[in-house]
Amino acid sequence: MKTIALAGNPNSGKTTLFNALTGSRQHTGNWPGVTVEKKEGRLKNHEDILIQDLPGIYSLSPYTLEEVVSRAYLVNEQPDMVLDIVDGTNIERNLYLTTQLLELNLPVVLAVNMADMVRASGNTLDLKKLSAVLGCPAISISALKKEGLDELTAELAKPQPAGHRPDIFEPQVVQALEEIQKLLADKVPPQSLYWYAVKAFERDERVLEELHLDPGQTGRLEAIVTKVEKEYDDDAESILTTQRYDYIERILAGCFTKKATASSLTLSDKIDRVVTNRWLALPVFVLIMWGMYTIAMGGTVVSIGTMGTDWVNDVLFGEWIPNGVETLLTTLGVGEVLSSLIQDGIVAGVGAVLGFVPQILVLFFLLSILEDCGYMSRVAFIMDRLFRRFGLSGKSFIPLLVATGCGVPGIMASRTIEQDRDRKVTIMTTGFIPCGAKMPIIGLFAGAVFGQSPWVATSAFVIGIAAVVVSGIILKKFKVFAGEPAPFVMELPAYHWPTLTNLLASTWERGWSFIKRAGTL
Ligand code: GDP
Ligand code: MG
Repeated sequence: MKTIALAGNPNSGKTTLFNALTGSRQHTGNWPGVTVEKKEGRLKNHEDILIQDLPGIYSLSPYTLEEVVSRAYLVNEQPDMVLDIVDGTNIERNLYLTTQLLELNLPVVLAVNMADMVRASGNTLDLKKLSAVLGCPAISISALKKEGLDELTAELAKPQPAGHRPDIFEPQVVQALEEIQKLLADKVPPQSLYWYAVKAFERDERVLEELHLDPGQTGRLEAIVTKVEKEYDDDAESILTTQRYDYIERILAGCFTKKATASSLTLSDKIDRVVTNRWLALPVFVLIMWGMYTIAMGGTVVSIGTMGTDWVNDVLFGEWIPNGVETLLTTLGVGEVLSSLIQDGIVAGVGAVLGFVPQILVLFFLLSILEDCGYMSRVAFIMDRLFRRFGLSGKSFIPLLVATGCGVPGIMASRTIEQDRDRKVTIMTTGFIPCGAKMPIIGLFAGAVFGQSPWVATSAFVIGIAAVVVSGIILKKFKVFAGEPAPFVMELPAYHWPTLTNLLASTWERGWSFIKRAGTL
């Protein structure tokens, strides 16, 4: 069995590629870090090759949980090959991780994704040259349009030599790294020696802890690093980062040409001018949310969700099934108590839960559209400015939004928030969001008291948000949660049309887990 680790930046298309290569179903979304868990699947037509999906990461530094997980896997488990997926439209930044992966002394295959967008942008990237400098195969693919996947699969199936280490660093650093390698030679496995030397140079806390250096060795390491720091008048980590980017710039100069354009605004940028506009962003957002809730569970005139739910409640579980069951029970001559248990208990109970399935499916479908087309990332971006005031970060919005489906995955989604403090406050406030289980209650009130007004569901949403805000403010006063939220960095993938299979798959996945859990309960 050959194991291939799939590594790449968040939003480089890892999940899409993983699905295309393995054929297994997995949820794809637009926010960074949706793939927190390790997933694996067999390569199509190659049962003996296992693809291990790693979390999306920008580097092998231990800043986020994802980076810790990914690098521990790569260094300790030593997969047979690394499939590095890079976003061809963001090639400079994506190659930063590539330079680090090439230092792991493992065979690397580079998949340059988003070929469709690269073509549309008019930029040209010479992959033959890139592959020659990096010393690893580089294949142009589009995970979404399923281009170049056969060629990629062929490379993955072939045996590849271990990645050759590119000449990234300047002589002073190279020399320091050599000295550190001598220092660590008997401490770590030889194939990872270089990687450990780089991390020791960066004073990576986790690696230093793992190495158990004695005071003499620590002193020598410190001397080597400090000498270079003095020469550059910079700290060790920044020195390496700068030289990595300089290296990328050098190699791209030989193989990448940007199209000279009069206007650099893409269609996506133009949409963002409105949708993330300082003044328009919030009104547009409220309008979209209102539209979504109206279609999913508003008044019967426009709401597909409510129409479906009414049909399930009034016809399917109102007449068909109860009548059928009653006839059956009478024919069988079932006793009154058992008959009542089945009819009034099981059938009515399950019916009450399943009645909400149409609404929930419509809601999940609409959410999937927003995710798949790229709007959801904008939501986090828009909300950040607002959420900062309440001690939350923009990334808190994603858990809160997922919680509109169910609080449990909502709280689970908070794992994508790096800072412990932000994550805890998010977890504590996420439960206020009206979720699938609260919808029946809201629906009941809307029907019984407010004549099915769509404003009830909308205002329940707003009140939920208000509860989150107020508790955020309260929690901020506590000492454990005080302090500034972490700076928010997130990229906005270009808008694109959602794919129907993605939408149906993720709607079904979420809907089915609701049916299974709520229905059986
Ligand atoms: P991950 O965060 O690395 O798992 O990335 P995803 O697989 O979730 O993809 C991020 C976004 O890029 C999604 O909206 C995908 O539909 C989109 N995407 C992935 N591959 C391609 C591609 O080849 N072309 C285009 N245009 N979009 C893509
Ligand atoms: Mg993913």
